[in-house]
Amino acid sequence: MNAVPAGVPFDTAAIRARFPLLARTVYGGKPLVYLDNANTSQKPACVIEAVDRFYRERNANVSRAVHALSEEATGLYEGARTALARFIGAGSPQELVLTSGTTMATNLVAYSYLLPRLRPGDAVLTTVMEHHANIVPWQLVCGRTDAQVLAAPIRDSGELDVDAFVRLLGPRVKLACVTHVSNVLGTVNPIPELAAACRRRGVPLLVDGSQAVPHLPVDVRALGCDFYAFTGHKMCGPTGTGGLWARREILAQMPPFFGGGEMIREVRIEGSTFADPPARFEAGTPNIAGFAGLAEAVHFLEGIGMVRIAAREQQLLRYATARLREVPGLRILGEAPHKAAVISFLVEGAHAHDLATLLDLEGVAVRSGHHCAHPLMQRYGVPATCRASFAFYNTEAEADALVAALLKARALLA
Ligand code: PLP
Repeated sequence: MNAVPAGVPFDTAAIRARFPLLARTVYGGKPLVYLDNANTSQKPACVIEAVDRFYRERNANVSRAVHALSEEATGLYEGARTALARFIGAGSPQELVLTSGTTMATNLVAYSYLLPRLRPGDAVLTTVMEHHANIVPWQLVCGRTDAQVLAAPIRDSGELDVDAFVRLLGPRVKLACVTHVSNVLGTVNPIPELAAACRRRGVPLLVDGSQAVPHLPVDVRALGCDFYAFTGHKMCGPTGTGGLWARREILAQMPPFFGGGEMIREVRIEGSTFADPPARFEAGTPNIAGFAGLAEAVHFLEGIGMVRIAAREQQLLRYATARLREVPGLRILGEAPHKAAVISFLVEGAHAHDLATLLDLEGVAVRSGHHCAHPLMQRYGVPATCRASFAFYNTEAEADALVAALLKARALLA
């Protein structure tokens, strides 16, 4: 899978040259320093061109016609499924439902898998470090069935309290849901350990891989989970793409969630029968151009190698963390020993939004706010943080630019 051996030096300049947007400037000539990759990543030219090529040369609907264009479009769409399945270690492409992203994947599990199984008094176990996409769908279905959402606590360092998670895995719990990598703290959770605990208690485990698939080699079967959700736009692909991997035997038991074209075997006015997974869960015309682009993104990432990407981002994390510690009054939230290159921080006396606005004026794009993680903000007793999130195409010089802009902002806000 990794085309380039792990030891080959990382040519960041050559990689950056493949991302047209990274060359742009803002505010009358300031180089853009894009450190909002946890929000969405930039796209290499090959992805942009694949989307463009689809509409210029191949535009047709999938699986509905025998003409050449439709066959080509279907081939592209199914080719994306095959590429993604290989990329995340699925046993077969048929185990992968193509979705509009993680949000749709977790909602699919909530309504198709969980809702029919929930009884009053049951529970879903999640954690306080989750994105709302891994909390709110469970609340919605629990609300319909008098079931309850439980959340495992975290330590001040940003690590999951694994003992508490395991203690909460009682007989009432019908599904456990945890993020692989926190979008706020960067914490990498010990998924194999959590999956083993869930298996011992017969509780299926869903993993939110939104922030893992773009940054780490992921092998869903080795992780030992039952569901794995991810999103395409954070892994150099187009928006409106993503997937849900699930064990084949689980998918086979799940009823449809959306109804419409392409997910049926036969429709009569009295009732319908449904296609096998994954088509059963893909009603309607999908984002074909987007998946053509996402397949290119997978080839692009494989061409660099996920092992090398992970190692390069760890270098950036170490460098940026050390540099940020030089800023007086700056506090980092999330210092787990095993973390991805996501750095949330607060600066004494400055509101996160004011800080982010001043950084932006220097060309430095970071995110400020609650990061769709209200329970985590409540856990730390803060309304918002600033978050610098790095990708393999970022540089040490960009970390320096962040620190220089922070020192300037601090002086202005003092
Ligand atoms: N989960 C995590 C950890 C995320 O960071 C995000 C996006 O920020 C999501 C879920 C939701 O992804 P999407 O909006 O692409 O469905």
